[in-house]
Amino acid sequence: MEYEDRYRQIKKAKYECLVFDLDDTLYPLNSGLAAQCRKNIGDYMVERLGIEESQISALCDLLYKNYGTTMAGLRAIGYKLDYDDYHSFVHGRLPYENLKPDACLRNILMSIPIRKVIFTNADKVHATKALRKLGLEDCFEGVICFETLNPPEQNTPLDRGDDTKGSIFDIVGHFSRTTSQAGLPTTPVLCKPSESAMLRALEIAKINPQRSIFFDDSTRNIQAGHRIGLHTVLVGNSHRVKGADHVLVSIHNIREALPELWKEERNQEKYDIQKMLLYKLL
Ligand SMILES: [Mg+2]
Repeated sequence: MEYEDRYRQIKKAKYECLVFDLDDTLYPLNSGLAAQCRKNIGDYMVERLGIEESQISALCDLLYKNYGTTMAGLRAIGYKLDYDDYHSFVHGRLPYENLKPDACLRNILMSIPIRKVIFTNADKVHATKALRKLGLEDCFEGVICFETLNPPEQNTPLDRGDDTKGSIFDIVGHFSRTTSQAGLPTTPVLCKPSESAMLRALEIAKINPQRSIFFDDSTRNIQAGHRIGLHTVLVGNSHRVKGADHVLVSIHNIREALPELWKEERNQEKYDIQKMLLYKLL
């Protein structure tokens, strides 16, 4: 009987979970954080890795395009990084003061009777700080972040920065000869938009993609989400793109675009989440 009740509850709910990207999704691109982040990444590559300043722009573009994040790309082509040092360098000097408490978004999120989880490629410290500044830290059940997918205990000694430079793959040279990704080295870093990384994240948080909605400002993340079965909402855009089930100019427009979210039955199911593996924001 108990099983049947539970089955009926699950059957009623079309959506069980909302999965939100953080940066440039829960706050607008014009906050200035993204631009400063790009600059800090370039500075890190010059100061910590000794890369010529004139190469930074082209290299960053190629790494970001081919590996999801510049850091994942740097690791793929052979640079050895201390992940914590990278994150504190890149995020430590961001203009967090530009992020203001968003009471409107907070009310919207709090009123949706569905599980909500953050899924960001950024590290735990940044996610915690940004969500606190936005006043949204208690709107989510948990945060899937860099450390969730790349736990420190799984990093090899070299990942911790014992050596900064081994043999470096010339990715700029590669793409001057071909447009093909064939022959590119792989990265040990798991991040969006890698489908296997995204599936791993959903598995850790016990999220069924068929019953979940994924909000992200990145077209390629949205398209990857669509391919693994998530319902998708591209945020910060006004043009429909392939792979996006909905497009929102601002995250504040959720109610207009998806009024059905407020009609979902309150899900009484107690989820057996592996919260140990998620980073709770307290
Ligand atoms: Mg984003």
